[in-house]
Order: sequence, then C-alpha cells, then structure tokens
Amino acid sequence: MVANREEMFKQRAWQEVDRLRNRLVEISRAIHARPELGGEELFASKLLSDELERAGFVVRRNYFDIPTAFHAVFQGRTVRPAVALLAEYDALPGIGHGCGHNIIGTAAVGAALALVPLLGSIDGSIHVYGTPAEETNGAKVPLADRGAFKDIDAAMMIHPSGCTVLAAPSLAMDALEFTFIGRTAHAAAAPHEGLNALDAVILTFNAINTLRQRLRPDVRIHGIITKGGVVANMIPEKAVARFHVRAETREHVNKVVPKVIDCAQGAALATGTQLKVGNFEYSFDEMRTNTALAQAMHKNLISLGEEVLTGGEGWGSLDMGNVSQVVPAIHPYISIGPANLVSHTREFAQAAKGPGAMRGLIVGAKALVATALDVFFNPALLTAAWEEFRAGTSF
Ligand SMILES: [Zn+2]
Repeated sequence: MVANREEMFKQRAWQEVDRLRNRLVEISRAIHARPELGGEELFASKLLSDELERAGFVVRRNYFDIPTAFHAVFQGRTVRPAVALLAEYDALPGIGHGCGHNIIGTAAVGAALALVPLLGSIDGSIHVYGTPAEETNGAKVPLADRGAFKDIDAAMMIHPSGCTVLAAPSLAMDALEFTFIGRTAHAAAAPHEGLNALDAVILTFNAINTLRQRLRPDVRIHGIITKGGVVANMIPEKAVARFHVRAETREHVNKVVPKVIDCAQGAALATGTQLKVGNFEYSFDEMRTNTALAQAMHKNLISLGEEVLTGGEGWGSLDMGNVSQVVPAIHPYISIGPANLVSHTREFAQAAKGPGAMRGLIVGAKALVATALDVFFNPALLTAAWEEFRAGTSF
C-alpha cells in the first residue's frame, strides 16, 4: 500500500527506471567505450539528446553556441516548477572515463525519461542540460552567466564515487596562465645575449612553493609547464606555465591570485623577461549545496537502500558550483564501489563500466527522479530551498 499520491508516483518512476535499465546500461557503456575530451563530446551529446528527443523532449542542440551542449525540456501540466537535471559526459586525456561522467549523463537522462509517462498528471516541467567539458573549460560557467538557468527552480545531478555522499565541498578556482617572453641566443656561445624565459618559469614555481607557507590549508596551487623551450642549445625565448589556484571560497581565491601573480612578476623581474598573465579556462565558484534539496535527496537515497555519508572531503572544483550560485542546487555522489576508489585514475575508469557502476547508474537515476518529484509535489520544499538560497546560507 502506498502512503500517498507522491509515493505512488515515485514507485511508478522507479519501475520505469527499471524498465529502461538495459538501454541506460547500453548508453553509459557506449559513452565509456568512446571517451571524448571536453568540448569534443559529439558522440555522447548526440546519443543522449537523441534519446530524449525520441521520448518527446523538445531538444535544442548547440545550446548557447556551445557545439556539444544541449537543452531538452518536457512539460507537464504547467511550466513551473522547473527542475533541471545536469548531464556531463566528458572524459580525461589518456585514461578515458576516469571520473565516470558516462554515469552522470546517463543517470540524468534516465531520470528524465522515467518522468515522461507521469508528466501528463504533474504540474511542472523537467529540463535536461547537456553540459560539456566539466574537466576543463566547464560549460556550466558560461551557461550560468548567460542566464540558461534563470527560469529553473531547482538544479541537481549525481556523480559516481567510491561511497554515496550527500554533499562534499568543491573549491572555487582560477586557471592562470603565465607567458614569459625573453630573447634567444646561443646557449653556450653567447648566453649573456639571451633572456631565459624558462628560468622565469622555474623561478615562478619556486616562488609559489615559498608562498605556500603563507597560505591557508584550504588553498591548492598546482601547475605544469606547457612550453619550456625548443632545443637545448638555444636560450628559451618563450616559456609558458599553467596553474590552478583553488580555495574554499571565491572571495579567498581572489585574495590569493594576486600573490601568485606577484611570484610570476618577481620571476620576470629577476630574469629580465616580459610577463603576460591570462586565464586558460573559466573560473569556477565554490559549490553551495542547498540544504532543503539535500535533505529531500537524503531521504530518497535512504529509501533506495543506500548507506549515505552526509559530508565528505572535497579538494576539487566543480562547474556545478557556478550553477549553485544562481539557483538552489545539489551535487550528491553515488557509490559505484569500492569505497577507496580515487577519481581521475585508471582504476576509476575501469570501475565506471563495471557492475558497480551500472548499479550506481540505476540507483542514481532513481534518486534524481524521486527528488524531482519531491519538488513537483511539495511547494513548501521549494519555498524553503529559495528562502535559504536568498539568505545566502548553505549545507
Ligand atoms: Zn567528475
């Protein structure tokens, strides 16, 4: 016996997810087998958006002129409340789906598809946002900036992980690129005629390492050299380094970044080179997990039999952070096991196509669809979510 109408709808939606199971597994494994880097996800975005279109969603591709982004909407009896499910599908260089975004995109689509038979008797609409390049130039940043979520009432997604975690912190981040321009010369015959741009990069790394003792423990700075000269017998005239600078809040990142730039400027001064400072990717803001939505998600995960950790450690950065600054949002994690699984590894990539991942995919889709139904059926939930959002508090 079901307790009420909402409970009955959840049960029906979950049956629908079970009915779709084989197709969802097939889709997520197809994306896994064909890993595409951020901005190049032609196969995955087409596969997911075609699936939604076939089910009756109105699909816009090349959304906001982002070639592998899409928006899909299916309206019930009314336009609002509008729930957004965020789909990701980009992979990592060399290791493929080492962050399991094949599960994220497919879980969002699975949850959306499961609502289709029910929406005729529901007030509200379901939106799926195909959001490319989460690992690099996160498309949620320009989408949030350009108003893609302005008519959305609640936004959610689910990310695979070793454990099921309701919410983990996600750091604000800037992506800094330092280009040093010096002067080339024969490195043995006339080094004094040159200005060594690579030395400037090396000094920058050393200066940043010295800076660390003046920084809070939540600050993360890590970089690579993308250009360091051409041949050993020429003084490098151009050298480029890229750094991610992260901290718990945007406010704090904004305080740290000038200090990092000072390190590069000091290196330029010491070497007589010219420094150009740029951003090589979008800046991410910290994730503000909405408590009201998280509590609804928590109940659903528990009724699906999940063991849920309510808080986790998080030293990465998510472009969902920028969405959470414009609309109440949640970004829970679903276990694909084992518990000690580390993301961005080959082991994670292997796990992301295995039976644990397929279990996580189905439970994740069910958790999303149940939480979307909570929003549709409980105006008080949405009111609480927005009161909290406007007050500037979070989980
Ligand atoms: Zn990820």
